[in-house]
Amino acid sequence: MSTTDADRELYQRAVAVAARAYAPYSRFHVGAAVLARDGRVFEGVNVENAAYPLGVCAEKSALARAVTDGCRPGDLEAIGITASPCGGCRQWLVELGIERVVYARGSGEVVTASPAELLPDTFEL
Ligand SMILES: [Zn+2]
Repeated sequence: MSTTDADRELYQRAVAVAARAYAPYSRFHVGAAVLARDGRVFEGVNVENAAYPLGVCAEKSALARAVTDGCRPGDLEAIGITASPCGGCRQWLVELGIERVVYARGSGEVVTASPAELLPDTFEL
């Protein structure tokens, strides 16, 4: 899937918001920006906790904000993420029906993929 100029802009918003991450333990700051079909953008960052498993990924933060503001599956067009989404977040991306996932691979290369490409044979209830 090719990366559009709009995808690159969304990715840059994720880069900018990553500075606000709360990551005192890993010091690995991640930002995410979700673009809704109506043009709204919801940003999120990773929020760590001293009890490590309780931390929240940037993608989940951004997606939870979008849902809180009324977005539902099909309302979200794309997401920019400054890191490769973890397995759990990939399931969230599938659930919410996002079309394009723009993210930075470990090598730093920014690529665009569909949730189905990132998580084939997805669990469905
Ligand atoms: Zn995650």
